[in-house]
Parts: sequence; structure tokens; C-alpha cells
Amino acid sequence: MLTTNPFDVSQDGDTLHEECGIFGISGAADAARLVALGLHALQHRGQEAAGITSFDGTEFHTHRAMGHVAGNFDREEVMVPLRGSVACGHVRYSTTGETALRNVQPLYADLASGGFAIAHNGNISNAMRLRRDLVRRGSIFQSTSDTETIIHLVATSNYRTVVDKFIDALKRVEGAYSLIVMTPEGMIACRDPLGIRPLVMGKIEQSDGSEAVIFASETVALDVVGATFVRSIEPGELVMVKGSEITSHSPFAPVAPRPCIFEFVYFSRPDSISEDRSVYTVRKAIGAQLAIESPVEADLVIPVPDSGTPAALGYAQESGIPFELGIIRSHYVGRTFIQPGDKVRHLGVKLKHNANRALIKGKRVVLIDDSIVRGTTSLKIVEMMREAVAAEVHMRIASPPTRHSCFYGVDTPERAKLLAATKNLEEMATYIKADSLAFISIDGLYKALGEPQRNAIRPSHCDACFTGDYPTTLTDQDDVSSVDQFALLAERMI
Ligand code: AMP
Repeated sequence: MLTTNPFDVSQDGDTLHEECGIFGISGAADAARLVALGLHALQHRGQEAAGITSFDGTEFHTHRAMGHVAGNFDREEVMVPLRGSVACGHVRYSTTGETALRNVQPLYADLASGGFAIAHNGNISNAMRLRRDLVRRGSIFQSTSDTETIIHLVATSNYRTVVDKFIDALKRVEGAYSLIVMTPEGMIACRDPLGIRPLVMGKIEQSDGSEAVIFASETVALDVVGATFVRSIEPGELVMVKGSEITSHSPFAPVAPRPCIFEFVYFSRPDSISEDRSVYTVRKAIGAQLAIESPVEADLVIPVPDSGTPAALGYAQESGIPFELGIIRSHYVGRTFIQPGDKVRHLGVKLKHNANRALIKGKRVVLIDDSIVRGTTSLKIVEMMREAVAAEVHMRIASPPTRHSCFYGVDTPERAKLLAATKNLEEMATYIKADSLAFISIDGLYKALGEPQRNAIRPSHCDACFTGDYPTTLTDQDDVSSVDQFALLAERMI
């Protein structure tokens, strides 16, 4: 579907957007094609839907589709109409409920100031309150996405310029947002004051000698298009690109940053550089720290692929226990987590992983995974090891127990569904049928990041999923306890 106003309601369904990746480029011939490549490198951040908006100097063009980047944005009939030297895109994954094209980003609106396209990674934690207020004052919402709130706040702001309207809107928003916005005047990239979700800036030389500016969720997306990393967008920073002119603004009162620690545990690709650190190196350090904290006598260290692999290498190197690929992963199945519905999720785990039986038989194995959320994966993997006649099965987890929901754009289910929120360590070990289970300590996790321990008064990162220490007010929590509930309430306001 190609449209200059993608706010059409062409599919039923509902859900709030969650984990996402964003990419924008200004000043490149065929900008949309580079966005497609960038989004491809960010596909791990969301596999449900993707979208690209371009601007050709006069008009905006958008294509949004369910599914992966490949299969949608490698088709000429899709790419040719996405004309222009400025473009941005989004990959999206939402948790539950029906998926809806109307929620796929970039979202676009024709405002009094002209076209306005927005791609958002994060989650606005007071979106429901803002939405109620806006609806009461006459705003007509067309999606159930929290991101649309920003558009209505911009549309109704009393400030004069679109940048001032945008800043005015963001000052009313709580939670996590890394944003790429396109207006006829130029591209804006912005990170929330706490810098919860990542956003980096790069550049790429054009054949005429000029430089195009890129914004992306992760540095891997820069690598893929052959761009150079320039720097991270600072927490609370707003960068404007108008032609070749780049300006930086700090419109918010400064606060101590709290970037998401789970990006290092699971979410970012290991070949990304985040906060000047290699994600791969940090994951290995987490594994090494885990070996120091929770050693076990075993014959083999086995990663749960792919998410547990760097930590398992670190664990093996620190403990001296041989690292072996005792579980082989099929690369033709999506992430287990992605498949909605508990029944399908169980089936997905079986499709995705298989025991390397010849290796396992009679061995004491220590399995390493990055996290336990519901416990579904761990249980299946341990059972798989038992079926392959392992002598002992020990599980070590490269993050502390996930006890709290994330309200900032990482998909964690409501608390009741989190294994660690309802069970103690012993009960969890029994549930997943492991001979022993241990998680890295929260201080150990910070050690792997190069800090002596977690600073309890001023933690350097958002670790709310482990500690419950949320860095913003959770205004919506009185009304909305889960993503599902937001979608349900938002649906009633459409
Ligand atoms: P579960 O089976 O519910 O315990 O999920 C745990 C598995 O899902 C781990 O092996 C992780 O690699 C993966 N995982 C953890 N957090 C997320 C997330 N936010 N989105 C997708 N997958 C995740």
C-alpha cells in the first residue's frame, strides 16, 4: 500500500507498539533504499512489520507492511515510488492481540505546518492520560499506538514553528523515546532526557562529495550501508538536519541518564557498539562474571543459541570448562518470543532448537542463556537435554531475575507471567527441571559494564526489569497494567 496519508484503517486489530528499530537518512540519492538496508540490519529489533517514509522536496511517500523488511522492501514496485533524498523507517514488534497496519510506523499526518512523519522506538508511559485529555478536547485518533499522542500534541501546540511545537509536545510526554521525525523543513532526531532507548548518528559520503547524515538505533545499521559512526545522540538532545546544516539543541532540563541495561543483555546485536562499548565484549564479560559468582562442576558449557552464545563463551573461558555447541538452532524459524499464544510458543521452541545428541549423552552440562522471562524456553531446553541423556543439567542466566514489567519499550509480559515474579530461585529451578539454577547478581552485571557495583542511589542504567526502580513516573499504571489493556482502552477511543 502506498499512500501520502497512511492513517487509513485498512485492517482491524489493536496493539501498542513495543520493541522497535529506527533508521533515518538525509541528503542521499535514493534515500529509501539505504533505509531499507538499515532496517534490514535492525530486523532483530522487530519482525512484525516495517515501514518507510520518504520526502521528495514536495511530497511525502509511505509504504508500510506486515512482515519482514526483506520480502517487502526489496520489491521494485514498492521502492520506486519512495522517491527523495530524505527518508526514515521503522521495524516493529508488538506483543499480543491482532496486529494492525494502522499502527505500523512511520506514522504520518498533514498538520497546519505541513507533513509530519514520525518513527519511534520506546514507549510513552503517560500515553493513556494524554490520549484521554486529547480525545476530550477533540483529537480524533486513528491508531492505538502511543506514538500518535505525539502527533496530536504537536498538532494542538500553541507554539509557532514546528520544532517548537515538537519540543512543547515532548515536554508533556513521559517515558522512553528515540525519535526520527521528518517535516518539509528537514529531519529531526531526538532522545528522551534519560536516554532510555539508543540512537546513534553516522555519515556516508555521496558520489558528489557531499555527506548524508544517518540516524539509527544501533551501529550495525551504519555498518551495513557502509556509513561511518559519528557519535551517539545524547540523552535529551535534539538534532536538526536542514540540507547540509546540522544543529544540536538541548531543550530539556538535564537529568542523570539511564540507558536501558537490557540492550546489553539481549536486545542489541552483539556486533553493535553501544555507549562506546562492544556489546559482544560486555556479554562475554557477563558470562565470565557469572562463572565467578556461580561456578559448577560440569563437562560442557553449552550456549542457548543465539542469545546465550557470547555469555557462554565468557563462562567457558573463565571456568576452563570446554565450550561446545550442544544445541543447534534452525535459522528458518522466527524468535520463539515472537510467536503469539502460549501453545504456539511451546511449539516454536521445539522447531527452533535441537539437541546435538552425540555430544550430550552422559555429560554434565551447564547451559547459558541471556534471560528467563516466562520460563518456557528454559523448560524446553532442559527437557531436551534430559531426552538427550545428559548426566546433569545446570542452568546459568546472564542477567538477574526479570521480576518487573518494562514500560519503556522492551516487551516483557505483565508481572504475573514473569517466572521470577512469582517464584523463588528453588521453585524456578524445579519449574524448569534443572539440577541447579543461578542468575548473575545485579552488582555482577554492573561489574561486567566496568563499574564496581550498582550505584543504588544513582544507577547508571535503567534496570527496572530487574530491580523495579523505574526512572520515570508511571502515570498510566493506575489505568493500564499491560500493553493489552492499553490497546483495549485505546481502541474504545477511536
Ligand atoms: P521465556 O521463554 O519466556 O523465558 O523467554 C526467554 C527467552 O526469550 C530468552 O532465551 C531470551 O533470549 C528471549 N527474550 C528475552 N527477552 C526478550 C524480549 N524482550 N523479546 C524477545 N525475546 C526475549
